[in-house]
Amino acid sequence: MVKIPFPTKKVTRATAKQMLARLEEMYPQAQTALEFRDPYELLVAVALSAQCTDARVNLTTPALFARYPDAKALANAKLDDVERIIKSCGFYRAKARNIVAAAQALVERHGGEVPSERVALEALPGVGRKTASVVLAVAFGEAAFAVDTHVFRVAHRLGLTLGKTPLDVERDVTALLPREKWRHAHHWLILHGRQICKAPMPLCGICPVADVCPTAPLVLKKKRAGR
Ligand code: SF4
Repeated sequence: MVKIPFPTKKVTRATAKQMLARLEEMYPQAQTALEFRDPYELLVAVALSAQCTDARVNLTTPALFARYPDAKALANAKLDDVERIIKSCGFYRAKARNIVAAAQALVERHGGEVPSERVALEALPGVGRKTASVVLAVAFGEAAFAVDTHVFRVAHRLGLTLGKTPLDVERDVTALLPREKWRHAHHWLILHGRQICKAPMPLCGICPVADVCPTAPLVLKKKRAGR
């Protein structure tokens, strides 16, 4: 696979804002592809989506939630039954262990409800900053910007960040936007990463920010060299 190096310099703040504005225009209705009815279902769906597609998670969760409709039910589940239901999502043993343990913690600490504070969310088994950010932003409409693999890649390719960690990327991108746009920006970058700025080879020819993106010339150079 051809590897496209990330830019080594950030774009100017004005260019960064221009690119984000264009992505906002391109993905105005961006929202999560995960299907859920309440914060409990979202939390579980996000936990299952690690290293798995949202489509696969959406095929799996109806059976899981029919059998375990709330945290109390899942807290009392037998691990092997949960493993059987979620097997196709991959890493099913660890995921089953985590979601049952998280459900038990929800029952013990929060009366079976999903808390809307970051500290309480991140204290749940298997819940890290990214999962907490998705739950805060999507279930509770809070200002949070989750950095997954697509967001990390696209933010670097756009020259919005030189950050080494997801938290660095989060800090750099959120510094470019008003708080009320953080939760939407996460979806702009994810959708862009899935549809156009793809991991192996970005489709710069149809990208609305190609004229200002610092990676576009690098991609062109790679393509010419590969001919
Ligand atoms: S121009 Fe190419 S590298 Fe830059 S964001 Fe668009 S698709 Fe990605």
